[in-house]
Amino acid sequence: MLDTTHFDNDAEYSCAFCGEPNGIDVDLSGGRRQRYVEDCQVCCRPNLLHLSFDDDGQVSVWAEPES
Ligand SMILES: [Zn+2]
Repeated sequence: MLDTTHFDNDAEYSCAFCGEPNGIDVDLSGGRRQRYVEDCQVCCRPNLLHLSFDDDGQVSVWAEPES
């Protein structure tokens, strides 16, 4: 089981289109690996986000263009 005590549900990714940082809320209850599309808050283009949680509940986020 993951220890979620210190889980930080704030994450950030750089938009795959304009490169601007976007803050996101992440939810570990959705699984260790998640994928979903979120529109950039700056340029409004759709980023396909990949989330990966490690054993410490730290989240890695990367974005690629959703076509
Ligand atoms: Zn953007």
